[in-house]
Amino acid sequence: MESGIVEHMFEELMAVDPGADEAALIEHIAEMERVKSAAAAKQARAAATLDTVRRTAEAEAGVPAARRGRGLANEIALARRDSPARGNRHLGFAKALVHEMPHTLRALESGALSEWRATLIVRESACLDVEDRRALDAELCGDPANLDGMGDARVAAAAKAIAYRLDPHAVVDRAAKAETERTVTIRPAPDTMTYVTALLPVAQGVSVYAALRRAADTCTDGRSRGQAMADALVERVAGRDAAVPTPIAVNLVLSDETLLGGDDTPAEISGYGPIPAAVARAMVERAVGDRRSRATLRRLYAHPRSGALVSMESRARLFPKGLARFIEMRDQRCRTPYCDAPIRHRDHAQPWADGGPTTAINGHGSCEQCNYAKEAAGWRVSTSMDENHTHTAEFTTPTGHRYRSGAPPRAPAITISHVEVRVGIALARHAA
Ligand SMILES: [Zn+2]
Repeated sequence: MESGIVEHMFEELMAVDPGADEAALIEHIAEMERVKSAAAAKQARAAATLDTVRRTAEAEAGVPAARRGRGLANEIALARRDSPARGNRHLGFAKALVHEMPHTLRALESGALSEWRATLIVRESACLDVEDRRALDAELCGDPANLDGMGDARVAAAAKAIAYRLDPHAVVDRAAKAETERTVTIRPAPDTMTYVTALLPVAQGVSVYAALRRAADTCTDGRSRGQAMADALVERVAGRDAAVPTPIAVNLVLSDETLLGGDDTPAEISGYGPIPAAVARAMVERAVGDRRSRATLRRLYAHPRSGALVSMESRARLFPKGLARFIEMRDQRCRTPYCDAPIRHRDHAQPWADGGPTTAINGHGSCEQCNYAKEAAGWRVSTSMDENHTHTAEFTTPTGHRYRSGAPPRAPAITISHVEVRVGIALARHAA
């Protein structure tokens, strides 16, 4: 088919007639939902096929089995404008559907399942062996009419129930394995607040919550239960006894103007994001006023027009502390497009072994997974600085696709310099 005809058909498919009646508009909405599911099924087929083609080629080229398929999840993530973590999920989902769960794939293709509901079925069946997984696939999705009216929770519960009936040991083993995934994460909340989330085995999680509730029960100073619980959490985890101060650095980037109160450009906390100017000033005042805080000021110079932070150079192979910190401040997060993960490595774009210099221009921040993915053959990163000193990294994948990411702008054009304030907060180990 000629591409012009395809384009025309696509336009027709996507057009909405403003004069359409209400029933027709609902029909459009339902139809597009089926298109989205069918598109997800096609993406899954393409991803699973790509995985097979790539692994076959790598096997022929003598790549050891353990290294085959490296970086592929990142390529899929880039193509889908999604994070590498989701790329992993998309690839696992595609392979499970295409190789082991044909009924679920067909239900997705026909629109009986959304991509998310199909993902839930894949997730709940992941602990089973292939034979049981096929049995679950046939039982739950063999007749797509059974899926009518089932919401996310019911789909997940139905898959879980079948999995448990087929192989109770596998489900229990999985619960034990899940314990190894316990962790603590942080993400910004609105209004200069933050969520600190702990993923814990249920018994520990319930006991932590109960301990905080008990602390709140004895609170008689008028704080709400929620406030008292939050305060108790901070006291017990960070400690409040100032006898043994342990400074914890909070890196705050703000312009001179912001610091002196001249304007309201937001300041930035590394690893958190922008905070209002007034809040930043209050933080600095508190830190400077508190003898225990050991606040220090450090100037970082920015380009007058773009506000981009300006570089430092080094001849060493490893990024020296100052330069590494500079790259972290400049990049804020992993530089792979759509990857929001925190920076774990300062990478040379042009490898040091190939003569790549250890400079701010050749350096870029990377997370663990992206750093690993880039070691696969066919990945290339090149970096550059434009006339406004904005740092750009271009990622080329093994298929020759290119994706660019610019370092985030740090300040409005008028700002000439930044002051980095290291606010040391005096904290001590909890007197236990
Ligand atoms: Zn990353």
